[in-house]
Amino acid sequence: MVLWVQDLGRRRRKYRKRQLLRPQPRLPTVFECPHCGARAISVEIKKKERNERGEVKAIIRCGNCGLYAEMWVPEIFQPVDVYSKFLDAYLEGRIEVKFLKKAEERTISLEELGAEETGFETGEGGAESEEAY
Ligand SMILES: [Zn+2]
Repeated sequence: MVLWVQDLGRRRRKYRKRQLLRPQPRLPTVFECPHCGARAISVEIKKKERNERGEVKAIIRCGNCGLYAEMWVPEIFQPVDVYSKFLDAYLEGRIEVKFLKKAEERTISLEELGAEETGFETGEGGAESEEAY
C-alpha cells in the first residue's frame, strides 16, 4: 500500500470566488430512465437513514413511469454515482424495483409501503369509485 505524502501546509488558494452565472454549479440530478427512456429519474439521498455499514439510503424514482427503487450507497456518493450503480443493478436484475402511481408518490408512507405488497386488490366498484362534483 502506497501512501502519498501530502504537504498540507502549502495549499494553494489562487482561485477566487467569482460571480457564477448559475446559482449552484451542481452535478446533474435528473437521469434517463432505463425502463421508459424518459429523462425523469431523480435521485434522493437520505443521509439520515443509515445501515450498520454506515451507508446511506438512496431513493431512485422516475417521474414518468413511476419506477421506484431503494439502495444503500456510501455516504460520499453523488446522485450521479447512485444512478450509475442503480443502472448496473437494474440491468443485471440485481435490484428490486416497484412502480408507484403518480397519486401515491407524494403521500406514500411507511405503513403503505409495508401493506402494499399485495398490490392488486381490485375493488368491486370499477374505475369510477368516486364521483366528485
Ligand atoms: Zn421511467
